[in-house]
Amino acid sequence: MKRLVEPTLPVLVGLLAAACGAPRAKLAPPPPVSPATAIVGATLWDGTGRAPVTNAVTVVRGDRILCAGAASECAVPHGARVIEAKGQYLIPGLIDSHVHLLFLSQGSAGEALGLDLRDLLAQGVTTVRDMGNSPSALLSRVSGFEAAPRVYAMQLVAGRRFFFNGIRPVRTDRGMVYRQAPALTMQWLGWTPIQYNRGDDPAAVVAAARAAGAMGLKLYAQLDSVSVRLLTQAAHRAGMPVWGHAWLQPASVGDESAAGMDGVVHAAGLTGELYAAEERDTLVNDGDLQAVTARVATPVSAHDPRILTTLDSMAARGTMFEPTLDATRHSLVAFDARRRHVPSLQEDYVRAAAQFGVEVTREAVRRGVRISAGSDHVAYGPVSERASLLGELRMLVDSIALSPTAALLAATRDVARAIGGEAGRRVGTIEAGRYADLVLLSKDPLEDIDHLDSVELVMRGGRIWRPGQLRSGIAMR
Ligand SMILES: [Zn+2]
Repeated sequence: MKRLVEPTLPVLVGLLAAACGAPRAKLAPPPPVSPATAIVGATLWDGTGRAPVTNAVTVVRGDRILCAGAASECAVPHGARVIEAKGQYLIPGLIDSHVHLLFLSQGSAGEALGLDLRDLLAQGVTTVRDMGNSPSALLSRVSGFEAAPRVYAMQLVAGRRFFFNGIRPVRTDRGMVYRQAPALTMQWLGWTPIQYNRGDDPAAVVAAARAAGAMGLKLYAQLDSVSVRLLTQAAHRAGMPVWGHAWLQPASVGDESAAGMDGVVHAAGLTGELYAAEERDTLVNDGDLQAVTARVATPVSAHDPRILTTLDSMAARGTMFEPTLDATRHSLVAFDARRRHVPSLQEDYVRAAAQFGVEVTREAVRRGVRISAGSDHVAYGPVSERASLLGELRMLVDSIALSPTAALLAATRDVARAIGGEAGRRVGTIEAGRYADLVLLSKDPLEDIDHLDSVELVMRGGRIWRPGQLRSGIAMR
């Protein structure tokens, strides 16, 4: 029997509001007024493209920037906390668009991860994008640390061969070596690559990535050009960016750019353009990529017409290029420092990749390809052996001849746009409404990029950290 009086939905909503919302609001104390902070007197380089503003005022309230500019553009609010910064330089918080923070089997999940995050913040890095990880495991661990950059995670995707190839004994000149599938090595680190095969629903991959907390896809290996296109289209329909390893065996960098991908990483991967699609499709075993790179990547082959065609396509389509030169340089330095020389494929690969990568990046810049300064930093091992954003910026200025301003844009505004999502809207420049992520330096970084190591204070989301305190582990107030 139907009940005679049945409350309708609007009535229920009204009753609930009356029961919990409205009366209590009257009793609640007024929200605390968060006092503004004003950084006064610094030379402001806001990353928007405008010239530096001397004797600037930058006002922050809560986690946002209220205004920034000349004193006439931005007034110091009454009662604001004032930070005198005369003779100093204020720039946007730096973005390292290529890090790997999570190594469960190597210990960078707990305290070591916390120390690395503090160290990144002390260098003025207020945002990082992790390019290989388990998004859910990484993001939940990072949320436990107060002193940390913002962390965005990408979801790794690879084809079937990445998960099954390689499980076999291999005879080498040093005896039998038992190889495992590359995906197993990754999973052993605690990473969670998703498998995609032709015929699978690309939207399901995108949904799984989103459910894990990822902000985009990183296509990693063993994907053909059709898969690359389908995954890119599905991710873009969902508003997620797609970046990829260069190259994807068999898909080339040219295929990645043509598919509309947002960015490709690793300059040495342009080697793939020197092979036909059918040849690339045979390079499926672990080590094949290194072997062919060691064989054909030279300072001369970096200027091969096939590579130039791909770079031109990247420039025309706006595909971002992340060369990761500092990581290769670190490997090179490690080989040079060895007391006893033992020839190895890995060393041949690194030596070839280093020279080739610099030449390819020079060509890319010459042809108008946009650069992002991601470093491929890892959160374990001796700190001196970890690639860094400052190291990458030094390479871009010293070896590629970018101006310090252009290099800084590759670690602020330009890369924020290319990362997309919240990062595109909220970080990368000092403008009203953006997150209050700032770095105050005692020396001018536009004069010499090395001056980025003169950090006085780092602000992340309105909260101030001093490098000395971050590095010594002294608690902050
Ligand atoms: Zn990487």
